[in-house]
Amino acid sequence: MRCPYCSSNETKVIDTRTDAQGNVRRRRECEVCERRFSTLERAILTSPLVIKRDGRREEFDAQKLISGLRIACARRPISAEDLDRIVERVEYAIRQTGRTEVPSHVIGDIVIDELRQLDEVAYIRYAIVYLGLSDLESVRNEIERLRANRR
Ligand SMILES: [Zn+2]
Repeated sequence: MRCPYCSSNETKVIDTRTDAQGNVRRRRECEVCERRFSTLERAILTSPLVIKRDGRREEFDAQKLISGLRIACARRPISAEDLDRIVERVEYAIRQTGRTEVPSHVIGDIVIDELRQLDEVAYIRYAIVYLGLSDLESVRNEIERLRANRR
């Protein structure tokens, strides 16, 4: 821990206690300037950051993912439980990586994989956005690929 007065890294803990909220407080002393200061240690519960394709970061938002899925799955025989399961799989995968930042394609790949098994129409709708299928030709190729895999 760096000394807030002289920025030295030579500090030592002289006392440690736990407060009523379970946070750890440490009394420290700088070995260079000999001044004392306290630190408070607490658990940080954060959603991992999603690294978007353009490099921007935003907090993982399960609600936003659900909204996107609902659009892809509109009028398709997909239950709310199905959507929850996809989101759970995504959250589980993010936790498994143990990283604080996850590229957005990691999430997109899981979603597209799940939708492919769940409902082909929802899959194609999602793929048009996610894979950036911008013309009929590429959409048709994707549908052909889907058909070929089904056989
Ligand atoms: Zn100091």
